[in-house]
Amino acid sequence: MDLMKLTSNAKQIQDDVLKEILTLNANTEYLYRYLHGSSDKELFKKNVPVISYDDVKPYIQRVANGEPSNVISGKPITGFLLSSGTSGGEQKIFPVNNKFFEDMAFIFALRSFLISKHIEDDEEGNEKGKVLMLFFARQQSTSPCGLPISTSVTGYLMSDSFKNRPSNCFTSPDEVALCPDLKQAMYCHLLCGLRQRDEVVALAASFASSLVGAITFLESYWKEMCSNIRYGQLSEWITDLRCRDAVTNILGGSNCELADQIEEECNKISWEGIVTRLWPKVKFIQSIITGQNSQYIPMLEFYSNKVHLFSPAYGSSETMFGVNMNPLCKPQDVSYTFMPNISYFEFILADDGNKGEIVDLVNVKIGSYYEPLITNYYGLHRYRMGDILQVSGFYNNEPQFRFVRRKNMVLSVNLEVTTEEDILKALNNATLVLKRSDLLLTGFTCYADISTLPGHYIFYWELKAKNISDIVKPGNKVLVECCCVMEESLSALYRDIRSKDGSIGALEIRVVQQGTFHSLMEIFISQGASPSQYKTPICIKSSEALAFLDNNVLARFFSDKSPPL
Ligand code: AMP
Repeated sequence: MDLMKLTSNAKQIQDDVLKEILTLNANTEYLYRYLHGSSDKELFKKNVPVISYDDVKPYIQRVANGEPSNVISGKPITGFLLSSGTSGGEQKIFPVNNKFFEDMAFIFALRSFLISKHIEDDEEGNEKGKVLMLFFARQQSTSPCGLPISTSVTGYLMSDSFKNRPSNCFTSPDEVALCPDLKQAMYCHLLCGLRQRDEVVALAASFASSLVGAITFLESYWKEMCSNIRYGQLSEWITDLRCRDAVTNILGGSNCELADQIEEECNKISWEGIVTRLWPKVKFIQSIITGQNSQYIPMLEFYSNKVHLFSPAYGSSETMFGVNMNPLCKPQDVSYTFMPNISYFEFILADDGNKGEIVDLVNVKIGSYYEPLITNYYGLHRYRMGDILQVSGFYNNEPQFRFVRRKNMVLSVNLEVTTEEDILKALNNATLVLKRSDLLLTGFTCYADISTLPGHYIFYWELKAKNISDIVKPGNKVLVECCCVMEESLSALYRDIRSKDGSIGALEIRVVQQGTFHSLMEIFISQGASPSQYKTPICIKSSEALAFLDNNVLARFFSDKSPPL
């Protein structure tokens, strides 16, 4: 892989990508309207409008209903990807073909290359080891014309790119990742990982939330897993036959010594450092820990004794974007270097006073905030991603971006605008207060309640005692202090309105029962969200989800003073 060439010739490669896309798609119904068959870059910039999902949805829907692909794409569309869509509520589908999965494989290969360069090798530079990779495939559905609709991870697992991957370093056989039953798959992933504990050098999942979910799952099932290892017999409830055969093979008969060792670790009062205790050779944890998933960093650090966290890549159902070239950086310094050969990327300024200025990938300015516009090979042209990124630097000529937030995720009960970034900052400060207690925050979401006046912010928190056997008794003082600290961290306008004019009420924390956020995830998954891509929404909008959370509230706390200005 010639990374040097790729990142040094970004401008030329981007121009070539656009030329290729416009030539391929020149005669599609969508593009012909604007370009009349031309593939000229200047004309593209002048005539093709910047769009959102609703603008292109009717065209996508027509292809899904059976009209020819060339309504939007010059090359045949072979399937659709379902975006996680848990934030805005709506699930979107995006047309793709095999190239998408080839790009995914390219990003994964790049990721492996960077890992082996920076992390994985031992002193002699040749140890490889295995990765406990939590991949989950979901059942595919089909569009009215019979094309598969799947999540990007599922699509990848079903693709030739996965089947023919150059090397296999996972602890789980492919049958586990492909098992459509989420619970069986999770059980088998962890069991295979435990069985091969001495070979595991990394734990990995797409998002940090899945890893935290896996550890919570392990808390409930480790005894059963140890028994399976002890007797060499897989639990009867693993009924997926292919998965069963493959995992039985890995179990390979009775192993009392290993079962004893695992039991000894899991039986200890605290699960602090459990990851490195169960998998002593683990050198890093790989999963996305930026954006919404930054809330899981303290949990992962607690469970892993601060093993290095590597946030590998930035991608979506619309396109892959790029990778973190510096795997060893701190969680707060993660940025992603865009790869110029995947899609054509433009950027619309998102700073205050946005005048809609659009620049090419190589022309973004360090420090500025942008929303990416995607032109991909499958029918999206100048499509607004809805993510806000900040340029943090350059790798050769290739800009690097820090993920800032989803665009539309804000809380507001008055004139103030509270962004996802504000919320995460407030939450980080509150977790510092929690650190002094024996409690861990395991899940949260929030909501702007304007049903009563003045409106106020409600944070739903799920807490867990650091010692696994302790029962959570949330102390009044600590949680009230958390409310105050969060208010102090919010914007100047929030504090101003709250303190001076009283049009924002006291911030509230509602502590919910343990397991509530897991059940919430199941509700979203039952409505079609993907388990591998699922992210607990930072702000919740669905009335069904809110009612569910409220039914699980154990205690309520309010800030007891106005925040300082
Ligand atoms: P999906 O289409 O369901 O895969 O969701 C894609 C969205 O997930 C992106 O638009 C981002 O908002 C978010 N996302 C993906 N990768 C990252 C990342 N590395 N850091 C933060 N958010 C991410």
